[in-house]
Amino acid sequence: MADTDDCIFCRIVKGQDQTSIEKVTDRVVVVQDVRPIAPIHLLIIPKQHIRDIRDAEPYLWDDIRKVVTEIASERKLSGFRITTNAGDAAMIPHMVIHMLAGITSDRAI
Ligand SMILES: [Zn+2]
Repeated sequence: MADTDDCIFCRIVKGQDQTSIEKVTDRVVVVQDVRPIAPIHLLIIPKQHIRDIRDAEPYLWDDIRKVVTEIASERKLSGFRITTNAGDAAMIPHMVIHMLAGITSDRAI
């Protein structure tokens, strides 16, 4: 699927946005959310413009798992939450994984 110039996540992936990039792998770019809802709130953005998890190939999901595991280890996180929106629940039609940390288990989703 082709990427699009009017997609904010495609612009971030291409380095055309001012967002500071935390990490880059072959398939994803990790940045800080500009409107964090947790002490640590990262966005894991697939480089490929795919709509949501329904279009994600298994290898992409495996890469995301590896990146999440790396981040948790590097930052010595004792816990974290990952979420992803799809369809009408997503603000932008480009799959993104939210990784939240510094939260407690009693906090509502
Ligand atoms: Zn995109």
